[in-house]
Amino acid sequence: PRFSDYNLSEEITRALDTLGYHQPTPVQQQVIPQALSRSDITVKSQTGSGKTAAYGIPLCEMVEWEESRPQALILTPTRELADQVKEDIMNIGRFKRIKAAAIYGKQPFDRQRRELTQRNHVIVGTPGRVMDHIEKDTIDLERIQYLVIDEADEMLSMGFIEQLEKIIRELPTERMTMLFSATLPKDVEKLCHRYMNQPVDIEI
Ligand code: AMP
Repeated sequence: PRFSDYNLSEEITRALDTLGYHQPTPVQQQVIPQALSRSDITVKSQTGSGKTAAYGIPLCEMVEWEESRPQALILTPTRELADQVKEDIMNIGRFKRIKAAAIYGKQPFDRQRRELTQRNHVIVGTPGRVMDHIEKDTIDLERIQYLVIDEADEMLSMGFIEQLEKIIRELPTERMTMLFSATLPKDVEKLCHRYMNQPVDIEI
């Protein structure tokens, strides 16, 4: 399999070349075509498998540059991962000029509030801080069409379940959801069952 099998736009293909991604990894081979067909997906896979690009590539492809309000929300358990994901999205989306914001705790709320008033296609954040912005009405989620829950098992073991569910309930129901997890314990499965629409299960 090659990236050219997926009919990606010239901007995304060029970015993958620049990144030196010549061949899709196994998780990317499974996820990219399903995501491009807009199925909900649960993926059991480890870090290091190329999972970020597995959702980052289809997200950057599907996001509409002209839409000035955020279209994709990516939730991560830690700020380190949020920063990493933001960087990966900006790299994959660089020639399409995709904008991403990362929001997480231990950073001035006001700076993030200002960042959120800028044009962003993608928001990456940790559940606690995303919830803070929802409560203060400083985040615009009305146009979110894509939700990614990354490292779901980590997020739940860190006690983020309630916040996670609250956030999901704030999102438009007409959306596509992708959930990534190294393991699929009962509470993660419950989450999938409750908030996803006949997800395709992928296991690497
Ligand atoms: P991740 O599992 O998302 O943490 O990615 C692990 C590493 O693999 C990162 O450094 C990515 O930049 C790299 N990577 C992701 N996809 C590919 C690919 N198709 N070819 C080469 N490297 C990749």
